Amino acid sequence: MNKGRLIVLSAPSGCGKGTILAEVFKDKSFALSVSATTRAPREGEVDGVNYHFLTREDFEQRIADGKFIEYAEYCDNLYGTLMSEVDDRLEQGLNVVLEIETKGAMKVREKRPDAIFIFVLPPSVAELRRRLKKRGTETDEVIEKRVSQAAWEIEQAPKYDYVIVNDALEDAVSDFFAVMRAEKLKAEFSGDIIEEVLKNA
Ligand code: 5GP
Repeated sequence: MNKGRLIVLSAPSGCGKGTILAEVFKDKSFALSVSATTRAPREGEVDGVNYHFLTREDFEQRIADGKFIEYAEYCDNLYGTLMSEVDDRLEQGLNVVLEIETKGAMKVREKRPDAIFIFVLPPSVAELRRRLKKRGTETDEVIEKRVSQAAWEIEQAPKYDYVIVNDALEDAVSDFFAVMRAEKLKAEFSGDIIEEVLKNA
């Protein structure tokens, strides 16, 4: 069986990547890597589903034990990708999606250069602020912090392989699957089919 692909998706919070991913995961060949974080759960978030919510002490112990592929500090909290969320599923042929910020993404780039790096852009920073306010899960102060963080993150977008603008959800989702399709057609993954075609030459 072919191994799955590792997909790193970054987008400043409020870009709607959650809605894009909800559509992507309707395709059962994709699985989300549930990250660990020291952030407090938002209303409705479930431990083990949205995140593995850890104390800072527990998180730091796991860093010391080498359990993370990457981790980063973001808006005063730690976030990290656990190896246990990724490798077994790739072996099973699932495409594993890491939904992580840019510093962590660049660490994955060093360790796993064969991963696919996608950045999701909002139509504008003004629209991003509007979406964050509408969500109503953060105070004005936290929103402004996230907006300035977002502007910094958007400057990192050229380091990714692909950029998707989330203006209309349907287009963004179709762009995501277009990326996956193009990746599948890459010559470096087409060794088997080339051999097959040449078999009775
Ligand atoms: P939020 O607090 O809004 O859920 O997430 C804040 C930021 O942390 C988002 O940009 C999200 O993509 C990022 N994030 C979530 N999980 C991870 C992770 O495992 N590693 C890193 N580096 N960033 C993460």
